[in-house]
This record gives sequence, structure tokens and C-alpha cells, in this order.
Amino acid sequence: MQAAGAVFRLLQGKRGLSRAVRSYGGEATSDAGAGDTSATRSSRRSVDVSPPCPFSRDEVLAWLKEDDDWKLSFLWEEADRVRREHVGDEVHLRGLIELSSYCRRDCLYCGIRASRKIERYRMTEEEVMECVRTAQKLEYGTVVLQSGEDLGLTSDFITRVVRRIKTETPLAVTLSLGERSLDEMKEWRMAGADRYLLKHETSDPELFRRIHPEDRAFPVQSRGKTGTVPSQGPVRLPGTVPALPEGSSNPRVELLMRLRELGYEIGSGVMVGIPGQSYESLADDIMLFRELDLEMIGCGPFVPHPETPLGRQAGESMGTVHNGTVPGFADGRSQVPATDTMTTKVVALTRLVCPDANIPSTTALATVNREHGRELGLERGANVWMPNLTPLKYRILYEIYPGKAKVIDTAEEFHQNLLATLAHIGRVPGKGPGGRKRVIQ
Ligand code: SAH
Repeated sequence: MQAAGAVFRLLQGKRGLSRAVRSYGGEATSDAGAGDTSATRSSRRSVDVSPPCPFSRDEVLAWLKEDDDWKLSFLWEEADRVRREHVGDEVHLRGLIELSSYCRRDCLYCGIRASRKIERYRMTEEEVMECVRTAQKLEYGTVVLQSGEDLGLTSDFITRVVRRIKTETPLAVTLSLGERSLDEMKEWRMAGADRYLLKHETSDPELFRRIHPEDRAFPVQSRGKTGTVPSQGPVRLPGTVPALPEGSSNPRVELLMRLRELGYEIGSGVMVGIPGQSYESLADDIMLFRELDLEMIGCGPFVPHPETPLGRQAGESMGTVHNGTVPGFADGRSQVPATDTMTTKVVALTRLVCPDANIPSTTALATVNREHGRELGLERGANVWMPNLTPLKYRILYEIYPGKAKVIDTAEEFHQNLLATLAHIGRVPGKGPGGRKRVIQ
């Protein structure tokens, strides 16, 4: 029985890979499926026809559960081949600027959640522009303006900064400011912002709700110098996206659709190994990436922050995963481990399902595997690196998870290591803004 199951999984894997090869114009393999005529094959290669997804959800699921190193080596190889074929050897560099650590949300996993009494900062326009000039000097193609969900970063402030970047430099601008009002997103787009990054974190509506508390009633934290934010009574904020009714889908997915209509390149992604995340829901996430036709897809492991509710809860269950026993849920599904291997499975499958997307090798991956995480991501499907340009004095305060801030390196010092790493794995720094070059229309 067991042997038959293993053979079945192997066949399932083989079929998945060969279908991926056929659909995206690689060498056809001998087990081309019945009914796959040369006409359908050539129409799939044509750029103006949207090809069917090369993997079924069950095939993605089987790969996520695959533990055999030998079989996985084929997945890594195939993801690397498809990456090379569709987005080349360039690694696009996006300079990350963490504008503000103020946040009105209280996400159960995040180290800068509103209810934590920590020192917070908000950068000035000049400080941001200083980082932008560093990005330009180091020949990065894009700057990513990221922050907690901070209404103290006013619409006007962001508009002014985006305008300055777009008029004073050739850089592309990605915004990653959380859920803001559509009016603001429209204004920033008109000011020249190119892309918006908003991870949907998990496509499981029940899990999403559990880790993103409904009550988003934290005060707007006033603009000022860095300092501890006193806890005030709850107030309702303007400009929030209304909470979705029970049973409806993820609000971030809805917002991504609106952002696309505004003409942004859109990016999403998930955390891998959130306590309560099943393999099934992770397979759904990967299929959703394809459905949303995303330009950017960032996936990193969940890194427990001990000062957060989810971090505390994860302490025990993660230990169990590492000891080899996988905790199950009441309905028999199993917990996804937050490991480097599981994360790179997601990266590799994402590359195969979305061959022309821009996919970063994330800092979270480099945090759980300090020695090789970054390279592993780049060798298993990723083509983007987001070096941190935030001034060191602020970086240490933007601690969404422990070990994230490598505060010993300035941007310039880090850049030398980055170039050496790329050379070591035979890749080159990307030139220009590095937007998505579509294969799927
Ligand atoms: N306020 C913005 C940016 C959030 S921080 C927004 O809401 O989109 C960027 C990403 O960090 C999040 O989308 C999440 O995927 C990741 N993140 C936060 N806490 C994390 C943790 N404990 N482990 C791993 N990734 C985490």
C-alpha cells in the first residue's frame, strides 16, 4: 500500500513537471497527455493566450507534502530552469525603506503591533530622500516604501515623497503601507507610484480572521519624535476598509483587485507556517497567486516573535514540528512547518505556477537560515532581493520579528556582500526598474 502511494506521488510529481514544461514552451517530454494536440500546445506558447495552469491544486499539495530529498531535487532544478527561461539571471534589487514603525493594527504575529508599548519612529521627508539617494548610488532599480499601517504618514506626505522620487530619480516606487483608503491609493498612483505590495498572508478566511483581530480601534499615533506611544481609549479611524462579513473572502485580496484597476503592478504573498496553517490552505494560496495574476509574490517563513500572542503560541508547537511529530488539527489536516525547506517549496512552486512573476528571496528566509537562506531562495525560483536601506538607528526599532534587522551592516557594507553572493551563484544585479515582463497575458 505504502509503495503504491509513493509511486503515485512520484507519478503525480512527474506529470506536474512535464505539464509545466509543455505549457511554457520548454522541451516537450515523452509523457505528453492524451488530447494535447500540437495545436493546443502551440496556442499555449502564444503570448496572447492565457495558458491553463500547469499544475492542479492536488499536484501542488502533493509537492508541498513531499519530503524525499531526491524527488525535491527535481523540483528545485525545474524551478531554477523556469526562472532562468522566463526572468533570466538578473536579480532585481529593491531598496527597502521602513518609513515608520507606528501601526494602528494589532496583528497577532507582528512585533510592531499597536498594543505593544515600544519605542516608535517616523522618518522625515529628508531622511527618506537620503535613503533614496543611496539606492540610486548603489544602482538599485526600485525603492520600496514600507511601514506599519500608520495614518500619521499622511496622504500628502506620501504624495510628496513619491513625486520627489519620480522627478529626481529614475527609480520605480513600490508602496507597502498596508490597507489605506482607495482615494489615497489613487492619489499616490497619480503622483507616480508604480507598484503596491499587500500580502494577503493566508487565503484561509478563518485563519486570516483569527490572526487579524476585527477590532482595529487603535488611536492614530500622533506625528512627532520617536517615543513610547501611550495607550488611549479606542477610537474608530477614518479611511479604514470595512471589515468583511463572516464567510467572505480576505479583504486584502479585494483591495489588490482595486489596486490593479488603478494601474498599479500588484504584489501579494503569504507567511509559511503560521500556527493553524494547513497544507491545503497553502496549496490554495499558491493557486490564488496564479488567479490574481500577480506581478510580485513574496513568501517568507513565519518567524515567532516572543512578545506577540502568536509567537508565544508557536513556541511549543514549532518545537514539536522540529522534533519530527507534526501537530494535527481536529479535522485531520496537519500544521505546515515554518522552515527554510517548506518556504523554498512554496517559492519553487510559485515560480512554476507563475513563471514570469517577480519573486523575492525574503529576509525572513535569510533569518531562519542565516548561512544559506538568501541563496537557497534565489536558486529555487526567486529573482528579487530587497536590501534594507533604513538607517540603522530606525532599523532596530522596526522589529516585526526577531533577528530581522542585521544592524551591523550599513547599506554600503551590505551591498558588497550582496555582490559577492550573486557572483558566487552565477547571477548578476538587475538593471533598470525590473517590472514584470509578461508571458501570461
Ligand atoms: N503594514 C504593511 C507592511 C507589513 S510588514 C502591510 O500590512 O502590508 C511586511 C510583512 O512582514 C507582512 O506582510 C508579513 O508577511 C511579514 N511579517 C510580519 N510579521 C512577521 C513574522 N512574525 N514572521 C514573518 N513575517 C512576518
